[in-house]
Amino acid sequence: MGRYSKMAEVHVLAIGNHSMNEDKTLDIGSTVTLIKSNKKIIVDTGSFKDQDRIISSLKDHNLTPEDIDIVILTHLHLDHTVNTHLFKNAQIMCKFRGGDYPGQMHTPSKGNLQRADLSDGNEIAENVFIMHTPGHTEDMISVRVNTDKGSVVIAGDAIPSKEYMSIEKQPNPVLMDVEEFNKSRNKILEVADYIVPGHGDIFKVEKN
Ligand SMILES: [Zn+2]
Repeated sequence: MGRYSKMAEVHVLAIGNHSMNEDKTLDIGSTVTLIKSNKKIIVDTGSFKDQDRIISSLKDHNLTPEDIDIVILTHLHLDHTVNTHLFKNAQIMCKFRGGDYPGQMHTPSKGNLQRADLSDGNEIAENVFIMHTPGHTEDMISVRVNTDKGSVVIAGDAIPSKEYMSIEKQPNPVLMDVEEFNKSRNKILEVADYIVPGHGDIFKVEKN
């Protein structure tokens, strides 16, 4: 077991929703994920409705929001960002712009904004790596984690839900760059043993 002691862990705290309400509005909130490494990391902060769920799930890990070191926002859509205010002591990171722009980091407790190194492949904590996965937005990032079950990719909306495991399932071309989206999806499928989608629970990738 000792060999694996430094592997990181991935725990889904709140399963994101994405469904139609009776009044035809979207009921939407992202999945919220905890990574335990040498840093405690949250990926995406979800819907306001999930606030209590996030806090109680953290309690199951003997953590409070104040214990979180880093929050990674996969992109800046509101359904992925609403509860960011809970993590007062964390460094809040997002790529913010596409291309080679390295990323930004806000530290609420200090009120400051700095550049962050969220370049593709950068190891942000032990066994936790940034992946550039543009398409849904040009600044979209995913997070790859080495765990004792294999490689887990927390994909944000690069893989919005499990349905997108089928290549026939294509995103709305009005809303995003479909070619980039498909490239990013393939990039994730090449490395992932498990995927945490933007909206839904973690699932295993069936390899052919
Ligand atoms: Zn989105």
